[in-house]
Amino acid sequence: MATVKESYSQANGGYLWNFENQEFSVKNAKQTLGQNLDLNASSNTFCWNNWVQSKCTTFVWRAVDEKIPSLLALRNRGMNLPNVTCKTCGAADESAHHILIECNFAKRVWEMISSWLRIPVVNPELNLKDMLAELLEVQRCRIIRKLIHAVAIQTLWSLWKSRNEKVFFR
Ligand SMILES: [Zn+2]
Repeated sequence: MATVKESYSQANGGYLWNFENQEFSVKNAKQTLGQNLDLNASSNTFCWNNWVQSKCTTFVWRAVDEKIPSLLALRNRGMNLPNVTCKTCGAADESAHHILIECNFAKRVWEMISSWLRIPVVNPELNLKDMLAELLEVQRCRIIRKLIHAVAIQTLWSLWKSRNEKVFFR
């Protein structure tokens, strides 16, 4: 086992990979390749952050392309769901963007996070990819930007967990 302390940009798709402080193994590499090499994916740039658990970053990476099992995504995949309205606010169809940014509950969470981190309030009009890109460009030093990015990823994961509790355990 060796620790690979370097980042590199994958030309195909433009994903930034960062293996710093992460144990490298063939199994890990295979899993990462399997997670990243999707020839049908749009050519977005996604920045990984090794200060949060990889399951959270992977979730956000999938959410950027609406590839998490929101009610709308499940219906689009052919599931017979007569009602795909958000269970939290009832105001719109439940997409990844709605759960994580647009829903009233998410908006309140982002307002609190913005106030805590002293950064501009997240614009609910932005898509997830642009929102994350904006957070990475706030006028702070590199370490603080990475911290803000990590908090955002963790917040997105928590919003999803909270949504699942509402859907499955209410
Ligand atoms: Zn909602």
